Amino acid sequence: MALEVEVLTLFPPMVEGPLRESIPGRILDKGLATVRVHDLRAWGLGRHRTVDDYTYGGGAGMVLRPDVVAAALAELRRPDSTVILMDPAGRRFEQAVAHDLAERSHLVFLCPRYEGVDDRVRAMVDLELSIGDYVLTGGELAALVILDAVIRLLPGAIDEASTAEESFAAGLLEYPQYTRPAVFDGREVPRTLVSGHHEQVRKWRLKESLRRTLERRPDLLDGRSLTKEEGKLLAEVRMEQAAASAAEVADA
Ligand code: SAM
Repeated sequence: MALEVEVLTLFPPMVEGPLRESIPGRILDKGLATVRVHDLRAWGLGRHRTVDDYTYGGGAGMVLRPDVVAAALAELRRPDSTVILMDPAGRRFEQAVAHDLAERSHLVFLCPRYEGVDDRVRAMVDLELSIGDYVLTGGELAALVILDAVIRLLPGAIDEASTAEESFAAGLLEYPQYTRPAVFDGREVPRTLVSGHHEQVRKWRLKESLRRTLERRPDLLDGRSLTKEEGKLLAEVRMEQAAASAAEVADA
């Protein structure tokens, strides 16, 4: 069953444009997901289709009205919907969330602008997501980031081998990759990779994946249990690192 997505925004072209391009466009053309973009003003109030208003208590900026959101959701929500509010105070979006969303059947993204939403909107949504600790001008780019990460995980979207081994799939960063030329600027591609020995290549990749994670994102290793093989390879990496720093001290 194809994933169905609704995006509620004040700027539909901002969402439609990027989705038509490149790989997301091809995935949508394959029919693996359908994305419908809705102008929130369709549920706006009065002659001017107003969707927001001043904040109670004073302060700069406009806030998205709860009655407008309620009217939109009354039309779009289904029993199988997951309604997602884009919000800097939401749960941090990460690969595990992308996998979870890729298994759902109907996603509704709510993309506020200006100062965000009336707080009573939070009770109308199933999930609040942030794409990082910074503030964007609106939820559209955040929704696009999430949608891109989700639709590429749909079965048949792209080569499944590439999503199985990439960064975060197994809680680790991906191993280094190389292509031609075999020697560039005096730097050679690691010998194991050109050996044609599948088992050695697999082991090298796992070890380098652990090394890269330890060096760049040690936090990912904190909460992750290791297999026996991973534990052994990680111990080797630590020993190599210790030997390299001892050699540096000796050289100094
Ligand atoms: N006043 C809000 C605050 O301080 O949390 C910021 C509002 S921001 C200018 C407008 C909208 O952009 C937000 O309501 C949200 O939908 C979206 N947005 C901004 N940063 C985001 C982030 N890091 N992740 C997800 N959505 C974000």
